[in-house]
Amino acid sequence: MTDYLNQELQQIREQGLFRTLRRLDAASDTKTVLEGKKVLLFSSNNYLGLANDSRMKEKAIEAIKQFGTGSGGSRLTTGNLSLHEQLERDIASFKGKEASLVFSSGFLANVGIISTLMKQGDVILSDSLNHASIIDGCRLSKADTVIYNHVDMNDLEKKLQSVTSYQRKLIVTDGVFSMDGNIAPLPAIVSLAQKYGAMVMVDDAHSTGILGKTGAGTAEYFGLTHQIDLLMGTLSKSIGAEGGYVAASQSLIQYLRNKARSFIFQTALSPSVVAASIEGIRIIREERERSVRLLENAEFLRNGLKKSGFSLVDGSTPILAVLIGSAQDAVHFSKRLEEEGIFAPAIRPPTVPEGMSRIRLTIMATHRQEQLEYALHTFVKIGKEMNLLSTKNVMQSK
Ligand SMILES: *Cc1c(COP(=O)(O)O)cnc(C)c1O
Repeated sequence: MTDYLNQELQQIREQGLFRTLRRLDAASDTKTVLEGKKVLLFSSNNYLGLANDSRMKEKAIEAIKQFGTGSGGSRLTTGNLSLHEQLERDIASFKGKEASLVFSSGFLANVGIISTLMKQGDVILSDSLNHASIIDGCRLSKADTVIYNHVDMNDLEKKLQSVTSYQRKLIVTDGVFSMDGNIAPLPAIVSLAQKYGAMVMVDDAHSTGILGKTGAGTAEYFGLTHQIDLLMGTLSKSIGAEGGYVAASQSLIQYLRNKARSFIFQTALSPSVVAASIEGIRIIREERERSVRLLENAEFLRNGLKKSGFSLVDGSTPILAVLIGSAQDAVHFSKRLEEEGIFAPAIRPPTVPEGMSRIRLTIMATHRQEQLEYALHTFVKIGKEMNLLSTKNVMQSK
């Protein structure tokens, strides 16, 4: 057994795909400490800076004092605190749906929702670049899964035409794709869903707190809150805490509460995390300027990098996918960034396709202008060193 594992590990090493953990010695903030060294962080999902906000921390501490450190049970037995119920009411109201259900993580939410709702004889249509937790939800469900080409609406329609005999259909998509930062074409997805009688589920992990008038995510951004059946998301990204959720109709939520195994057989989230989530949602709804600032910051760096000759995946979100090419080059680029005091890891296969390895930058509302300028300057310096800047792009953007 060990021989076999070591052989496979050796193969992974030879392909340059061996993964190791990096250690932070401080909070996930614009300035942090990476293994003892001060760095600027350009790769946190803490988009709005709330994970280290003093108000959030106060609420978490208060909750620990009142309710302790652990919930002590699953929601359906003894772990259901008043805090959980308040959080679920707040999420439902924030997302514009009748009800919501909180899971211990976004991963468990996707796995639980999809595998519970879709049964044998049903079919799931899933975008080829959906998050791993959606893929695993599909795998765990007894329904058939049909993958459509990434944001390709002609392909989705073709696939819908090929599954008309199925009882129930679900189209599932990331709202903002986590590795590319592009937004799913929800208006087209919704109209195809209506034409072919499918339900729609959107994973708004990367758009909640950021897109839409009140920060509710891509559904609100497109004005499609009522047309989308299931609004899934996580409390761990812009909300700055931990946990996953789905907002939907009362009957959908009641059904999941009764049947979703990753909800039923899981200890309820701890009081501190739930209290912080409630505060995070409150701050997001009241301080809309945070997401305005975030999008401005992202636009500044996106434009600067493009004008300098970098090739980026098109998008208008705080996820900037700067394409480098080979896994080796991306790893080298990331190492050079780190030497210059910037932490932004390389993303390589199997997370992204071969030859599409990249530096994935995530921007924060709390990045200051001089930090953004330093990042731009450093990218250009390394890009020149490695001969990566296309003069064609530079000419075009002038
Ligand atoms: C992060 C993420 C999840 C998982 O959420 P966790 O709370 O981290 O488990 C699900 N979907 C997408 C698109 C994500 O980016």
